[in-house]
Amino acid sequence: MSRELHTFPGGLQMPTYKALSDQEMSILQPIPERLFLPLQQHIGIASEPTVKIGDKVLKGQIIARANGYVSVPMHASTSGKIVDIGDYPVPHPSELKAPCIVIEADGEDRLFDIKPTHEYHSVDPKLLQELIKECGIIGLGGAGFPAHVKLNEGVENSVDTLIINGVECEPYITCDDRLIQEKANYIVAGTRMIRHAVQAKHCVIAVEDDMPAAYAELEKLIDDDIELLKIPTRYPAGGEKQLIQVLTGMEVPSGGLPIHVGVVIHNVATAAAVYRAVTRGEPVISRYVTVTGMVDKPRNLQVLLGTRVKDCIEACNFDVDENCQMILGGPMMGMHVSNPHVPVIKTTNCILVQENTPRPPEMPCIRCGYCADVCPVKLLPQQLYWHAKTDNMEASQQYHIFDCIECGCCSYVCPSNIPLVQYYRYSKSKIAAEERRRDGADHAHVRFLKRNSRLGKKLENKKQEQQVLGNTDSTENKQDYIAAALERTRLKREESKTQSRKPSTNDKDA
Ligand code: SF4
Ligand code: SF4
Repeated sequence: MSRELHTFPGGLQMPTYKALSDQEMSILQPIPERLFLPLQQHIGIASEPTVKIGDKVLKGQIIARANGYVSVPMHASTSGKIVDIGDYPVPHPSELKAPCIVIEADGEDRLFDIKPTHEYHSVDPKLLQELIKECGIIGLGGAGFPAHVKLNEGVENSVDTLIINGVECEPYITCDDRLIQEKANYIVAGTRMIRHAVQAKHCVIAVEDDMPAAYAELEKLIDDDIELLKIPTRYPAGGEKQLIQVLTGMEVPSGGLPIHVGVVIHNVATAAAVYRAVTRGEPVISRYVTVTGMVDKPRNLQVLLGTRVKDCIEACNFDVDENCQMILGGPMMGMHVSNPHVPVIKTTNCILVQENTPRPPEMPCIRCGYCADVCPVKLLPQQLYWHAKTDNMEASQQYHIFDCIECGCCSYVCPSNIPLVQYYRYSKSKIAAEERRRDGADHAHVRFLKRNSRLGKKLENKKQEQQVLGNTDSTENKQDYIAAALERTRLKREESKTQSRKPSTNDKDA
């Protein structure tokens, strides 16, 4: 019996521009001379270097370790020499430089001694989760959340449904579509491994109904243990919470996680990475990247992490200049970057090159309500906008700003051209900064209280001492107290004299 599909509120039907890049096979991007690997490629704590300048490394070797639970190790994308560990341009909205490990490739691409795991069925789910962490696997759909953390939620809680997300809903991006068409066997096998790791009762792989070739490839490989579903093409159907709603009819509660409704969800590229990690011991050192937009030959490339965006664009017969703008990701949720020297990282699913047209001017809000109609989370975008404008962060939180998935549907339809998502990002970062400041202040307050308590204890001791002296009101008692103290001093001196007369080890040797 096939699963009943549900719907989610809002959303948009829009031109997809997928045909630009999904027609041809992906090609391998050559190894560049230098690879720039940022220590922060995932959500959580940055990795910590385990190599130093001058070290020789092999492909797949760990070059930075995980630096906490929500962190993953990083591996060399090819063999070569570490030539620098320092600040370089990275993909980040601030466009600031950040710490990177730089590898000068030796061109030999020599592989580290990696260890495959056979018979994953007999492997303890916890160990499988550890192996996935060791291979540096994060959410490769663009979110970048360490995969082992989500798997742990599954191991710790009962999982009803595992969803493998192949719903690539944002316009232009086709890397998951191509990956499914070219490596469907990896995805299906990886799906079974993740299912074993979280012990899910049900398992679904979902794609959009405009991905017929990908669907056909998966259909050849799946069995009764996996449901394969096509869902209607509508943005942002690939959002975690929206896809859960479409497939199960359940809403993840405000501020909640998929596991709160018994679901664990991973991207198809993550499933393929799990297959590689388990059966071959291969860490995440490359990924499929869609290069599209105004480039001459839009297509998908298999790119080593650390390769510069510029090299990928040039591989598609295009030179970036001031007439174009680059977006990492899609047009709705992607990140604008101006420096083509930033590297491809684990979360780079698409490089979109577009004409550099000036933004239409922002006009006053006319309270038309279109933004609320399309919001897939049922927020009130115009209210959030007002609260951001007036710096009313308390009201922003009351209006659930943190439930906003920054899908951009509201900005897309706004007739006043208000860059609404930018306002929400501003509010979120301001609230986060305020919370950090308050945490810091709370911490200082706790230190102050502890210090006061220490001083209080000292004072108390002093008081007790004085009380002893004070109780000696009579001259006779005072003299007894002083005599006792003098006697204690005399005894101590005697003792130390005896000690000093004893022969030392050195005396003995002599
Ligand atoms: S769509 Fe734009 S103009 Fe209309 S209510 Fe929302 S913010 Fe205001
Ligand atoms: S960006 Fe946020 S507020 Fe706007 S439509 Fe998406 S979820 Fe709603």
